[in-house]
Amino acid sequence: MSKKSTKYIFITGGVVSSLGKGIVGASLGKLLRTRGYSVTIQKFDPYINVDPGTMSPFQHGEVFVTDDGAETDLDLGHYERFINTNLARVNNVTAGSVYLSVINRERRGDYLGGTVQTIPHITDEIKNRLKEAAKDKPDFLIAEVGGTVGDIEGLPFLEAIRQFKIDAGFGNVIFIHVTLLPYLSAAGELKTKPSQHSVNTLRSIGIQPDILVCRASKSIPKTERDKLALFTNVPKEAVIECKDLQTIYEVPIALEKQRLAQEVLKRLNIQDDSEPDLEHWKDIVARVKNPETTVKIAIAGKYTKLSDAYISVVESLKHAGAALGTKIEIKWVPSDDYVDYENVQEALSDVSGIVVPGGFGIRGIEGKINIARCARENNIPFLGLCLGLQCAVIEFARNVAGLQGANSSEFEPEAPHPVVDLMSEQENVTDMGGTMRLGSYECHLQQGTIAKKQYNLDVIHERHRHRYEVNNNYRGLLQEKGLILSGLSPDQKLVEIIELSEHKYFVASQFHPEFKSRPENPHPLFMGLVEAALNGEVNANRRRQGSSAEVSV
Ligand code: GLN
Repeated sequence: MSKKSTKYIFITGGVVSSLGKGIVGASLGKLLRTRGYSVTIQKFDPYINVDPGTMSPFQHGEVFVTDDGAETDLDLGHYERFINTNLARVNNVTAGSVYLSVINRERRGDYLGGTVQTIPHITDEIKNRLKEAAKDKPDFLIAEVGGTVGDIEGLPFLEAIRQFKIDAGFGNVIFIHVTLLPYLSAAGELKTKPSQHSVNTLRSIGIQPDILVCRASKSIPKTERDKLALFTNVPKEAVIECKDLQTIYEVPIALEKQRLAQEVLKRLNIQDDSEPDLEHWKDIVARVKNPETTVKIAIAGKYTKLSDAYISVVESLKHAGAALGTKIEIKWVPSDDYVDYENVQEALSDVSGIVVPGGFGIRGIEGKINIARCARENNIPFLGLCLGLQCAVIEFARNVAGLQGANSSEFEPEAPHPVVDLMSEQENVTDMGGTMRLGSYECHLQQGTIAKKQYNLDVIHERHRHRYEVNNNYRGLLQEKGLILSGLSPDQKLVEIIELSEHKYFVASQFHPEFKSRPENPHPLFMGLVEAALNGEVNANRRRQGSSAEVSV
């Protein structure tokens, strides 16, 4: 393909939310990337928050963090994992951030006395964000409009992409509408009517979809496909089926069979009959679907009722599991319920590994501290992530270093031993949005540590999202008592990774390794956890079978 211009693919959603538009966009990105094209993916979120950083995970699921420190929608995590490319702040645009730019400009007087309106000022700003995301001239920009067609708040985005088709020139823009065909068991049929209506809504605002991707629990019979094509003005071959699958990583393979990428290329006037190179990906999917073993890992947090709140952690475990040929069975442990240590021991008695992920606020903290203690005392492989590191340090300070009442000043501002404390740069921060230590920072690994062995590197870069740090006033004492500081900031002032010796695997990081794990590149710290958990499992089995060949790891 000549490098003349970027082609734009817009993805909208119909009928219901949570249709997996993000996975469809990410999968299409994968199919284009594996044909040798450069691809970037952008998400438009029509809510008024400037970013999801201030929202509860119960509202929004995980907040995904990019290298450049943007707090973004969790779909960016899917995009990065599928297209194996780092994205940035420009790749997530909320209505709030669009309005904020326009209003700031208005306050500066940039509109020279004009009336500032949704059309053209808001829509122009949305189009500018598209151009900004495409400034390096990728072959394709895939842009997903969040929400469902028909939502009032989505209208400026739909209007902007309608206009953009004209601005970008003939043959440079297509629209894909992802929709649901509900199955009515009483009728034994997949119903097309809701999809017809949602396409009608799109057409009434001037957007004719070029391709329909139809989510369905069953195969779509030819009659229903034909009906959809007839009523929506979409050619039959561009009505693509997207069935529920065992793993999201199978979606690109299923969509390739349905010729989605070919239909996209054809509609963007690109002559290309090449096959994508999906061998490695298929191998990963096969490993996910046919594991040789199962290993049970606990995730202990306070948002366990909504697994989307920890989606990158869950995916990272799956990546490591696939690489090691094992299925990860997750045991969700709601940390609020474990104030009593005996209950913790009981709850963790059947798991081979534990993750304590990130979080904010005091709720569930004593439970997490107990869980870290149980992992340490019982030699259960443990990985702490951000708040997970802070809880492990508090636990170690209290129970090994004898610092009674050790805590984080986040939970107890007057704690007698604030072993985790506010960074000095954070002391006068009053705004909550975008003011944490955010994004990628360098970390130096110490020789002879588990961290160094796992990464096999001296210098790493990992993504952060926190305000509090290990308090340097306690570093000496904690080290004396056996806490190993295995990763430090380049100036040595910030503790980035801790670990314990004399333990199968007890590692915690102040950063979030889960944001950088990819199916094709599982993260070394998760690999370490799952490997240690598997070894423990093998030994437990041997013990259960009464084998004399007991090995201690
Ligand atoms: N609440 C802690 C802090 O702000 C940890 C944050 C996190 O886990 N992302 O430092």
